[in-house]
Amino acid sequence: ASLYRINGWGAPYFSINGSGNLSVRPHGLETLLFEEIDLMKVVKKAVDSRSNGGLGLQLPLIVRLPDVLKHRIDSLQSAFDSAIRSQSYDSHYQGVYPVKCNQDRSIVEDIVAFGRSHRFGLEAGSKPELLLAMSALCKGSPESYLICNGYKDEEYISLALMARKMGLDTVIVLEQEEEVDLVIEISKKLSVRPVIGIRAKLRTKHSGHFGSTSGEKGKFGLTTLEILGVVRKLRGVAMLDCLQLLHFHIGSQIPSVSLLGDGVGEAAQIYCELVRLGAGMRVIDIGGGLGVDYDGSKSSASDMSIGYTLEEYAATVVQAVRYVCDQKFVKHPVICSESGRALVSHHSVLVFEATAAREVATPGLDLSYLTLGLSDDARTEYGNLMGAAMKGEYELCLVHAEQLKQRCVEEFKLGSFALEQLAAVDMLCDLLSHASQQADSVRTYHVNLSVFSSIPDFWAIEQLFPIMPIHRLDQRPSINAILSDLTCDSDGKVTKFIGGATSLPLHESRPGEPYYLGMFLGGAYQEALGGLHNLLGSASVVRVVGSDGGGQAFAVTGAVPGQSCADVLRAMRHEPDSMFEALKCRAEDCFMGESVARTLAWSFNAMPYLRHGATTAAGDEHEWGGYD
Ligand code: PLP
Repeated sequence: ASLYRINGWGAPYFSINGSGNLSVRPHGLETLLFEEIDLMKVVKKAVDSRSNGGLGLQLPLIVRLPDVLKHRIDSLQSAFDSAIRSQSYDSHYQGVYPVKCNQDRSIVEDIVAFGRSHRFGLEAGSKPELLLAMSALCKGSPESYLICNGYKDEEYISLALMARKMGLDTVIVLEQEEEVDLVIEISKKLSVRPVIGIRAKLRTKHSGHFGSTSGEKGKFGLTTLEILGVVRKLRGVAMLDCLQLLHFHIGSQIPSVSLLGDGVGEAAQIYCELVRLGAGMRVIDIGGGLGVDYDGSKSSASDMSIGYTLEEYAATVVQAVRYVCDQKFVKHPVICSESGRALVSHHSVLVFEATAAREVATPGLDLSYLTLGLSDDARTEYGNLMGAAMKGEYELCLVHAEQLKQRCVEEFKLGSFALEQLAAVDMLCDLLSHASQQADSVRTYHVNLSVFSSIPDFWAIEQLFPIMPIHRLDQRPSINAILSDLTCDSDGKVTKFIGGATSLPLHESRPGEPYYLGMFLGGAYQEALGGLHNLLGSASVVRVVGSDGGGQAFAVTGAVPGQSCADVLRAMRHEPDSMFEALKCRAEDCFMGESVARTLAWSFNAMPYLRHGATTAAGDEHEWGGYD
């Protein structure tokens, strides 16, 4: 466990069980019901063929754990409830989930259902997000907030006002001063009294990667001048009572409670000033930013970790608001937060297969080919190379090998070198590079996944996620590895791991036996940001809950295959149906026989990822769809 720091980032949900497999405690430790789900059993159920009682899904696979999601919501609510109780705060906490973090239907619906008793609501930042939040909240608590952030046009504002008419507690948060004119005009047209919020641009600045949206020069929110402008306009049309919420967001992954306290304190001062100016204030919305400890270090020094607990976060917020309001004799507002990352990161695990890169083969290596045609310069380089190799100086060896290769390529271009001679040089360089990797003991493992589709933040902002094997954890790993993905892109590699490591301890692969890795804490942002580079689409998904009665049983309550080749082609506006027809006709013209159409149909319906290991026989898990 210490090799992978699982007790740091994984507690209280992930641990290693007696079989050496990774297991999940979906309710954390705070439950009378002892439930532990063995992740390997879930993977087996997912990938086994239907004829073997499995689901016939292909990897990569996202295992969703809705009970973890529920535990996160309950924990956040209870941290605020107890801070409010212990500090005799005179109002309550009521959170919203920012759907941008992961708009997946099952997650949004789960959050609304699990959060109903806490009046938990949703936050939207665009028109489609607003549409999904409106329809999801029809099943929420009538008191849940629907917070409308983001840049707005007439359509967005009309939709938000319609939501209010439908009885949803909708707040239009002004992101720019001009939006207030549209809100005034459209609300009059639709005869709806709007509830308005203002996003303030705070002076408090978060200095980490995620803090670029904060501070005076931040992209979002209204300056003090603009806030006063809005107040003036609303007062002018007798709508100042509609201004009821103050919002700010100083960035994701807030590193410390001191920064948090600073930001909340500044916002609370603005809140009290708005009360003094006559606005109908009732809510302070502290945005997102509650962080996740990705590397388990519990430190405020990097973007990968945070230096506080949920309880400390809530206590800091409540104390900062209370202190300012008490000083100004202002009634305590409802505290709202828009935590996304901290709610959904833990509930999903991405499982994928890894295989050790092929050993370099040496058949037919005949160095006599090489030495035959060498020029004098190249012959000297060859002598240096062999000398360094004999002494085991692999780095020097590689330098000489590259120089030798360059010279040989030049000779080949001049026509004085045969293809066999060039192949002998290539092979020599491969062997030396392999020998030097072994001396460094860092090996490459190929992973059946696309970094761009499944871990986009690693590529884009060097965000690290815990990655580790999900089985064989009772055996000491003997290899240090880096991971290389399926895409033909040099960025498609994982070469940095939590804790500053440049390699990951892995086990030797065993022939014919799949080796599974899991990526953890990736439930926020990764699915929504993942792209279609190389047309490698989204992963398969299973939704897994513990079985009634506890113990080690589990039930799969939902399964969705990943995007097929046809799906990803369609996403780029190709037309798989007509492509299939055209290829089928061509095959018929070439007298290729009927089985070609079946193979083509199967290819369109299959996932784009490699099919090996424990996955099922071709065709087992796919309907023929529209291609027959
Ligand atoms: N609210 C707003 C306005 C945001 O911009 C964001 C994220 O960027 C969030 C909430 C969610 O932040 P987090 O995931 O850090 O909780």
